[in-house]
Amino acid sequence: MDEFVFVSGRLCLDLAGTKLWRRSLRTELLGSPSDVRRWVGQAELLDDPGAMDTRGLERVRRLREAIYTLVGSWPPGDGAGAELGEALAEVNDAARLPLPRHQLDESGRLTRTGGVDEVLGAVARDAVDLLSSAQFAKTKECANPDCTRLFVDLSRSGARRWCGMAECGNKHKAASYRKRKKQEAVLETGA
Ligand SMILES: [Zn+2]
Repeated sequence: MDEFVFVSGRLCLDLAGTKLWRRSLRTELLGSPSDVRRWVGQAELLDDPGAMDTRGLERVRRLREAIYTLVGSWPPGDGAGAELGEALAEVNDAARLPLPRHQLDESGRLTRTGGVDEVLGAVARDAVDLLSSAQFAKTKECANPDCTRLFVDLSRSGARRWCGMAECGNKHKAASYRKRKKQEAVLETGA
């Protein structure tokens, strides 16, 4: 069973990353209600997301696409289009939903309860907070042009370029290593 990845530094961007390679292969990781259940569990949003149906799946995907649209065209300029307006309304609507209920039991353990509404509420609240915060200036898209994964660069140098997945930074590093070796070989032969 596939594991989801959480490399974005923000919940809302990790959700956006459940659709991969957006400009080419457009790979959908939330293909069924049970995928959403797994994502919610791995994101540690709720202890048990309960029953999930296709309507819930649809709502999560719609919020995800609205977040991706907003991040890509934020901050809105003067001529903000209809698409941005719709995405903003979608995210704001979801941000009014309740958040997961966090409670402590007598053994000191945290319990997190809720359903689809609470999942949408938590993700949208995170998106609203990010878009209105100074951290948004550090939001980047992975430097692999095919990847399209978003992340917040919290590195001290502010020089993070890759989402961190093996197919991105490592592949690039391997390619530039081979290129360097080749150049060295050429230089040696030439000498
Ligand atoms: Zn990447």
